[in-house]
Amino acid sequence: MTSRQQSHILDIRGRKVGVIVQPHPTSRKLSLRLVPGEDTVKVVSPTNCPLSEILDFVARQENWIADRLDQQPTKKIYQDGDNIPILGRDHKIIRIDPLNSNSRTKGSAWLESEQLFIKSHPEHLPRRVKDFLKNEVRFEINLRAQEKAASINKKITAIRIKDTSSRWGSCSTQGNLNFSWRLIFAPEQVLDYVVAHEVAHLEHMNHSAAFWALVDELTNARNCSQKWLKSNGNQLLSYS
Ligand SMILES: [Zn+2]
Repeated sequence: MTSRQQSHILDIRGRKVGVIVQPHPTSRKLSLRLVPGEDTVKVVSPTNCPLSEILDFVARQENWIADRLDQQPTKKIYQDGDNIPILGRDHKIIRIDPLNSNSRTKGSAWLESEQLFIKSHPEHLPRRVKDFLKNEVRFEINLRAQEKAASINKKITAIRIKDTSSRWGSCSTQGNLNFSWRLIFAPEQVLDYVVAHEVAHLEHMNHSAAFWALVDELTNARNCSQKWLKSNGNQLLSYS
């Protein structure tokens, strides 16, 4: 986000919708898109466009916006007893009261036979669950990425776990790999494929035949994973 961006909240058919305004020097007219997975629209505007005009523009698109938002999966908030997929396998969230002395030796969060135990006060549970999942995905991705990179004699500069909702992974020319933390919900082979894809970009910064051949050397899950992401990717974005 740049400092020139501004956000506002509009009421659209009884729904609070965030409006991010991004002035752009070469933009000649207002344009609008939905931020995937969020109740937010982003408006790109010419640099000197008055705010009132921008908000009028958004208001005129309210039917379009409301229809699109209705099509988005609703955000899930983690609660005690909920089932969430971890590496594609359902786990039940079980909250443990921090004052419960029986659990004192176990740490603050752990997995045990398809259950995710979280020691937390009720109000902190959603954040603790998310923190745990981000750590898990970081561990799983690091392990695979380092191993795959070593197998092709490449060095990873850094691995970052991000909150992106538009891409599952990316690779920079400097050798930085970025991944969406929501991959933790996908089956293990899908995670393996996304890691293989980004590691293969360390060698080929394109999607050439040689790139795909290398991906297939690094994972055997390409086809099924691409299909899976196409049909289930949107669901993953519903996890907040
Ligand atoms: Zn790619």
